[in-house]
Amino acid sequence: VDGLTASSLMKSADVALYFAKAEGRACSRRFMPGMDDKLRRRREVEQKLRVALAEGRFELYFQPQFDLASDALEGAEALLRLPDGPNGMISPAEFIPIAEEAGLILDIGNWVIAEGCRSLELLPPGMKLAINLSPLQFEKGDIVATVAAALKDTGADPSRLELEVTESLLLNDSFKLQATIGALKALGTSIVLDDFGAGYSSLSYLWRYPFDKIKIDRSFVMNLGRNPQSAAIVRAVIDLGHGLEMSIVAEGVETQEQLNFLSEEGCDAVQGYFLGKPLPI
Ligand code: C2E
Ligand code: CA
Ligand code: CA
Repeated sequence: VDGLTASSLMKSADVALYFAKAEGRACSRRFMPGMDDKLRRRREVEQKLRVALAEGRFELYFQPQFDLASDALEGAEALLRLPDGPNGMISPAEFIPIAEEAGLILDIGNWVIAEGCRSLELLPPGMKLAINLSPLQFEKGDIVATVAAALKDTGADPSRLELEVTESLLLNDSFKLQATIGALKALGTSIVLDDFGAGYSSLSYLWRYPFDKIKIDRSFVMNLGRNPQSAAIVRAVIDLGHGLEMSIVAEGVETQEQLNFLSEEGCDAVQGYFLGKPLPI
């Protein structure tokens, strides 16, 4: 039942309208049970994001990355955390899309970049730090100026900073984007193509953008040993990356078998629960 009174029907229609708008306009949505709970949760998380920004409650966790040839700890990925009191943490998988929709991702992203650069000083010298960037930070913000300012303010060595972008960014392929990526590299940072294989995986991106590193998506690593297709894809991506002089990191390594396979196939670096979970600094 969508509602038994005029006002509850209007309320349900309004919720459905919200979902239609969220899906990019020019579409219609029928109210479905559960939609209102989702919307309530979304508003609740948005509110928590605003408070966390105002009160400086975000935290960065760090997940170690190891070089496979030497077994050495070579870097970490910074992963954003939103503490939620007794409820523990709200996952970035939930709050990042909400931050993007609510127009909060620029402020949050700026904090991550600044905090990441500050953290470099506390990490062992020479250790690299990877930071995740949202496509909106390229579209709506001045990502080059933001990174340049954070590097300048902290005196961090730019060659220790890796910027992770996803294929969804490259969907808006343009000269402007190529110039922006070029400018970030000119600052001395490296660019990593995250979640490779999970999205559109157009090979033309690989020669049009000067990535330093490709990160093989967790979904392929997860299925190593379970299905031969995943092994074939992982092997091919490693060869392809090396042919393009890009280094390859695999994420989501959870077992010794996966680690052995990646090592035998010449993958450069690994990250995953088997080696280390994301932790406070
Ligand atoms: P991601 O960039 O693909 O990050 C890797 C995710 O995989 C992290 O989830 C990490 O905790 C998880 N992970 C690492 N090793 C394993 C493993 O062995 N097994 C499994 N099952 N999972 C593993 P997390 O921290 O929940 O982050 C989720 C996503 O949220 C990230 O995916 C990234 O897209 C986004 N995110 C996190 N921090 C930021 C940020 O500062 N800015 C932006 N724009 N996005 C962020
Ligand atoms: Ca990432
Ligand atoms: Ca990833």
